[in-house]
Amino acid sequence: MKFFNLYSDIFITKGYNRILISDLGRNISNLYPVELYELIIELKSTSIDSVLEHYDAESKTIARGYIDHLLEKEYGFITTDDWDTNFLPLSYEYHDYRPISNLFIEVEQLVLPETLIKSIINLGVKHLAVFCKNKVSLQDLIRFDNVFEDTPLEGIEISSVYSTEFSPASFQMLNNRTRRIYHLLFYQCQELPLVENTDYRFMLAFTKERLSINSCGKINMDDFNTNMPKILEAIHHNSCLHKKLGIDIEGNIKNCPAMPKSFGNINEMTIEEVLQENTIQQYWHLNKEEIVVCKDCEFRNVCTDCRAFTECSHENQFGLDISKPLKCGYDPYSNEWSDWSLNPLKQQAIAHYGFEQLRVRE
Ligand code: SF4
Repeated sequence: MKFFNLYSDIFITKGYNRILISDLGRNISNLYPVELYELIIELKSTSIDSVLEHYDAESKTIARGYIDHLLEKEYGFITTDDWDTNFLPLSYEYHDYRPISNLFIEVEQLVLPETLIKSIINLGVKHLAVFCKNKVSLQDLIRFDNVFEDTPLEGIEISSVYSTEFSPASFQMLNNRTRRIYHLLFYQCQELPLVENTDYRFMLAFTKERLSINSCGKINMDDFNTNMPKILEAIHHNSCLHKKLGIDIEGNIKNCPAMPKSFGNINEMTIEEVLQENTIQQYWHLNKEEIVVCKDCEFRNVCTDCRAFTECSHENQFGLDISKPLKCGYDPYSNEWSDWSLNPLKQQAIAHYGFEQLRVRE
């Protein structure tokens, strides 16, 4: 008797028509027909010979082909007499000891109030994303990065309007004098690209687009991430909002700066006080299994979510928005991608957010 053993780091997400097999050791995901899921489940409790003997000749050939493919992709291995019990199942638990891991702030100028800096340090925030509505100077960037010297903050991502002040020499200086800035995006650029093939420690990107906080939330396959911590987080929590806070241009503390609900203002209270009230955390635990359409999607554990811009079609019993993200053009029932902004069923939500104008500008 032969037995098929699936490696414990092979994680399968079952969608309506297809499955996504994620190899968590290699950070790769591949799509397969949903019938392979049934076969893999059967092979967990039944020997290969017993599984095959119930199939007709044609299905047997297909099943053998699938098993060969699983072996070829190194998703599993074969043993005789019994399954190999030396490989314990992987725990899918997810723990993040920080009260907050990410903070997303929209600002007019690249400076933060002293109390907010203290909170970022006190809470052990790991990543800071700043969307600046105006131009920043080289000195602004260096000063901003240096404020977090000797703090637990690991990375800073900054988006700002492009200034012609920047040259390859200034980016080199930025590279030498900063440690935490790992991504710098300049928008509203006249010409592209301004600097090519750089070896800077940070990623440098330019776009002619007139970005705003509302530009966020687009779902596309290039951003899907087969990464064990991200998948484990997505299984249990909201893959966009868990352990994240946003602060809008007025200083309102929110789940995301683009969401309407505010839980307080940084000019009147600290982030720590908002967290103690225990209401901002509600969206943190809304995973994709609860979100309409997404719950049937094979990409739900590798895809990010967006609660700021949704189809505005469903709420759960706690009043949380469980609608599909507006800016997703994928249909898990037909497995087709289309332009979300042209979908006739989304036009009402598009008008609700005023995205008709955004589309013209893009
Ligand atoms: S339907 Fe779209 S947003 Fe939802 S999980 Fe699938 S790809 Fe992601």
